[in-house]
Amino acid sequence: MRLRIIASGSSGNATLIEAGATHVLLDGGLGPRRLAGHVRAAGIEPDALAAVLLSHEHIDHVKGAAAFAKRFGVKLVGSRGTCMAGGFAAMERERPGFAIARSGEPIALGQLSVTPWSIPHDAAEPLAFVFRTPEAALGYATDLGRLPDEVGAALAACDLVVLESNHDVAMLRDGPYPWPLKERVASAHGHLSNGDAAHFIATRLGPQCHTVVLAHLSETNNHPELARMSAEQALTRAGRKDVRIEVATRHGTGWLDVRPPRAAQAQAEQYRLW
Ligand SMILES: [Zn+2]
Ligand SMILES: [Zn+2]
Repeated sequence: MRLRIIASGSSGNATLIEAGATHVLLDGGLGPRRLAGHVRAAGIEPDALAAVLLSHEHIDHVKGAAAFAKRFGVKLVGSRGTCMAGGFAAMERERPGFAIARSGEPIALGQLSVTPWSIPHDAAEPLAFVFRTPEAALGYATDLGRLPDEVGAALAACDLVVLESNHDVAMLRDGPYPWPLKERVASAHGHLSNGDAAHFIATRLGPQCHTVVLAHLSETNNHPELARMSAEQALTRAGRKDVRIEVATRHGTGWLDVRPPRAAQAQAEQYRLW
């Protein structure tokens, strides 16, 4: 399994996930043409996607999702709340339609098993996701004000974790946002700060985790190097020299391997012996 973040942050979110011949798009927060261009640039035909998963109905996550899904005949998958609040209800009756995802209930999409998890955010029914194949697990959680214990446990068991690191608390406090917006961002239904991400990294990360990708960074209240430094200090505190930090900017990332290096190495050994 591998992933490629196409775009991350308030100007748009979309991530490609690949497991063997199965490809899914997580969020469609760019215009439909841009989404299609990025998917093709990654070597995948848009109509070959197994689904477009939606985390929640905010525009930076759903902007081109409906138009893209209709144009290429790909089904949308999200919570009932996202379906209603995002205006996707009519698509439920169409083909390929909108499939309802429920927290804690795994969905089979080709070679992937996807488990949605409820998270607190100022949206109708937002979700984080854990993607599994028999050999690897990928956790993805952005747009959440705090990390519920059970979601933290699900992420902690993953080989690669994409986690929100939205703002630096001091930059948010001293920055240009109007006070009500500052309060919303910092609230339990807002966004995780660099400190929140660092706390998870220092205290929860499982032994099999080899990469943490910091995502949904604010362009106003954060800086990629600040987010990276905070996460790397957390790794040092936890004594973890075996974990790599990646930072997803608005331009995304390259392909990132989810499979544990040990498994990749074991396969290489096998080929050598053979
Ligand atoms: Zn967002
Ligand atoms: Zn949001």
